[in-house]
Amino acid sequence: MATPAFSFGTMNTENSTQAQEQGNSTTVEQVIIIGSGPAAHTAAIYAARAQLAPLMFEGFMAGGVAAGGQLTTTTEIENFPGFPEPVGGPELMDRMRAQSQNYGTRIKTETVDSVDLKSNPKKVVVGGTVYLTKAIIIATGATAKRLGIPGEEAYWQRGISACAVCDGALPIFRDKPLVVIGGGDTACEEASYLSKFASHVHMLVRRDELRASKAMQKRVLENSKITVHWNTEALEAVGDQLLTGVKVIQNKTREESLIEAKGLFFAIGHEPNTGFLEGQLPTDETGYLVTKPDSTFTGVEGVYACGDVKDKVYRQAITAAGSGCMAALEVERWLTE
Ligand code: FAD
Ligand code: NDP
Repeated sequence: MATPAFSFGTMNTENSTQAQEQGNSTTVEQVIIIGSGPAAHTAAIYAARAQLAPLMFEGFMAGGVAAGGQLTTTTEIENFPGFPEPVGGPELMDRMRAQSQNYGTRIKTETVDSVDLKSNPKKVVVGGTVYLTKAIIIATGATAKRLGIPGEEAYWQRGISACAVCDGALPIFRDKPLVVIGGGDTACEEASYLSKFASHVHMLVRRDELRASKAMQKRVLENSKITVHWNTEALEAVGDQLLTGVKVIQNKTREESLIEAKGLFFAIGHEPNTGFLEGQLPTDETGYLVTKPDSTFTGVEGVYACGDVKDKVYRQAITAAGSGCMAALEVERWLTE
């Protein structure tokens, strides 16, 4: 893991508006925002209102997710402030996008292929075109890992979810048996959370121990509403219109059985969308971008990161939006310094 320097340098102000011939675009943008979830759009709204005329690359099925990010893959959002009634994930993202545009954000529906963070101005490469910019905000999010078992596609969002905190309180899961797959902190946290609503929670752990921290393990193992199935893996999601159960195998005895369940929650880790950075920014051991504490500064001058691409703990729309606000404010301050 590389260590960020976290010292602010000075900007080359000679590069203010026009760059020398460095690619197909010679205009030097103030700030380019990469991504299109709540973090990116909040950063865009703040940057646009600060007269920075942000240019956003929202991606085209980047990381397998539509422009708008993870919320486009879900139905009702009940925990985003300002919506007393549930709001659809895609609708919420459409509204954020419209707000970004209304204040002057230019949006391109293209995926960033690579960046050069060492050059001045910085380069953002998209489909063979090089864009130049003083500052970059990285808000490319993360993608929940999926298992790929039979029935997964059919029951995705019909009982299967990758976010218990988001979906667990929905009426279809209340007082019903539920299954959580994984043995890390997320799985333990989600199983504990779900146990408040469910009739019972079954945790499927593929080894004979949990990866989670001792404190998290204790919470799970002492909870009478949670049963841990050791050395157990999911084979298939079954159901009719909605999920009704999970076929499992005990991988030591090879014994197969069916666990009745109305909900199946994957908690087997997330993949931050950082491939296009080609290792130019410091990450932690699980690949998440590292930023200065209480800041979105990456340690590379003019480069800021916000949202799930740098957050493996909270992973919520509102926390992503909050850090998007921070990133735009930090960029604005840096540009005026
Ligand atoms: P994301 O939403 O992950 O968006 C980033 C997007 O950037 C990508 O999806 C992609 O379109 C784009 N991108 C990626 N790479 C590139 C690239 N190279 N170039 C250009 N664009 C790129 N949170 C809640 O608060 N409430 C909920 O009810 C809720 N429900 C959820 C349900 C599900 C099924 C899931 C998966 C998540 C849910 N979440 C919920 C979590 C929430 O969606 C995330 O915390 C939030 O979307 C993170 O926002 P973000 O801006 O960091 O990035
Ligand atoms: P982890 O990578 O820590 O754990 C993933 C879990 O899923 C492991 O138990 C792993 O099993 C299991 N798994 C992975 N692939 C499969 C598969 N194909 N089939 C079955 N099981 C599978 O991810 P987390 O999301 O739990 O945590 C990520 C990071 O975030 C960690 O550093 C964690 O500490 C942190 N975090 C902290 C929290 C907190 O402090 N409150 C809350 C949530 C996360 P195996 O162990 O066998 O590899």
